[in-house]
Amino acid sequence: MAKVKIRTRCGPGTARQKWGAVKFLFLLIVVAAFNIVPLAEEKAVPVSYDLKVRIEPKQGTIAVRGRIVVPVEAGAKTLQFGLHETFAIRKLLVNGRRATFSTQPGDPSPFFPATRKVLVNLPAPIASGNALVELEYSGRLKEIPEFGTYPDQKQAMDDQINSRLVELANYSSWYPQFFVYGHPIQPTLEVSLPKGWIAICSGKKLDEQEEDGRPVTRWSSPLDDDILIAAAPNYKRKVIPVSDGQIEIYYTQLPEEFINREGGEIAAVMGLFTQELGSTTIPSGTVKHVFSPKRKGQGRAGIARPGMIVTSEGRLLEALAKDPKFSLLQDVAHEIAHFWWDFGVGQGDWINEAFAEYWSAVAVERIVSEEEFQKVLEGYRREVSDLPADAPSLAKVPFDGSGFVVRYYKGSLMLDSIRKTMGNGSFYAAAREFFQTYKGKSIGTAEFRSFWKQRLGDTGALIDLWLDSVGGLPRIEKSALPLCEDNLVAEGTFDCARYIPACLFHQSTESRQAARTYGGATSLVQHASWLIISSYRSDHGKNRLRIAEGSQVFQNLLI
Ligand SMILES: [Zn+2]
Repeated sequence: MAKVKIRTRCGPGTARQKWGAVKFLFLLIVVAAFNIVPLAEEKAVPVSYDLKVRIEPKQGTIAVRGRIVVPVEAGAKTLQFGLHETFAIRKLLVNGRRATFSTQPGDPSPFFPATRKVLVNLPAPIASGNALVELEYSGRLKEIPEFGTYPDQKQAMDDQINSRLVELANYSSWYPQFFVYGHPIQPTLEVSLPKGWIAICSGKKLDEQEEDGRPVTRWSSPLDDDILIAAAPNYKRKVIPVSDGQIEIYYTQLPEEFINREGGEIAAVMGLFTQELGSTTIPSGTVKHVFSPKRKGQGRAGIARPGMIVTSEGRLLEALAKDPKFSLLQDVAHEIAHFWWDFGVGQGDWINEAFAEYWSAVAVERIVSEEEFQKVLEGYRREVSDLPADAPSLAKVPFDGSGFVVRYYKGSLMLDSIRKTMGNGSFYAAAREFFQTYKGKSIGTAEFRSFWKQRLGDTGALIDLWLDSVGGLPRIEKSALPLCEDNLVAEGTFDCARYIPACLFHQSTESRQAARTYGGATSLVQHASWLIISSYRSDHGKNRLRIAEGSQVFQNLLI
């Protein structure tokens, strides 16, 4: 499962304010591309980890004993993994036999700033299948400042171990990484911390015991792609029960009022998505939102893994100081949406991002207001229409982090266009069926195309238009879509290309809704020179459209 889950999003609830943060997001995603290579689209065999971790925050040290089962190809003579460059390996056995190893510098990337390669000579050939790697290592993390600590900062790492907090994810390579990030893993984890410290980790908490006065917690996460440890001596916890699980929010300094609002928003988002799509696929039934007491760090909602979101508390406090009403709703909704939208792989990862992003917009529509939703869509249109003419199509956009606007925003606009064409009821029913059909599987653009074309029936060509158009907003070409002339009376001079959106427009909407859509379109035209409809009215029971001659037709405005 090749997914960039560096879903760093920070920002206020309104579309307008958010775009500044997008640049930061871009930086992160583009740099992430250095280190992330798409995997083959078949289902990968997960790496299973059983790690016992002892952390001494005051000393800044970590010691790990691990048993790791790694899929290995037949005949392999070596094995390679990434590990934090300052860690010392004290023991390394493969299938019970001592293995020799050497180290090499890692590929430098701002996202993985302190990793190095460990090359293991396998002590005996492995037929095929799995190798059991037993490993003991320990050390102190390199001190690298959090993201955004200094302007024009070259290196950043949010992972840290100190007397204020512990935050560990894949970025520091604190655990052995055998594949590029995104490969499925199954961690079980035991974490020992000094007295009074509270740990929140990936997966479900199995139990908590005291050993020698230290809290020891155990965790299991059967469907994951990272191993997160967040800990602090002063976490407060807020628990909100929801229909099939609970929401836990951890924080140290945030005001109670914000936490209550945040809890209500997560519950509303979970409720909305569950109602529309069915139960989430996250295994634990618990959503943990941890406000890690960093000062800076990755922005927006921070990082999200199945069932767990880690957000910078420092950034949140800064944002609340500027605007006490500041909300993370859309950013958090995007991350929560990935608890459902998570089955596109390789090039098809755009499916995850398009659905998560559009669902976050739908959360804004249903939980905040139609007006805010329209602002969000307007923001997408602005970004997409600024794309260069040779920007890759959705069907071809590579999975390397470079096509953010295409994958997230053009994808969202496509889904919005499908929704307007099908009508709300049919669209949500089809989206539910799409999720229910493919959850737990691995799909790409081809499956998306055939599913939605079928659901759209006569107007299925709309899907090809969106998937295959390069550049910004798709332009309707002659005969791109079937003509339907029933109930359509057009005024002015047209060629058939210009009939088509009108036809879709009519098919998909009631008169009042159409007028409203048109109203939205007109307001856009004022700052975009490419609007097409010059008037709309319903007359003698028929829809009447006047389309400006010679203008380009951008159907996401029309339908
Ligand atoms: Zn995402």
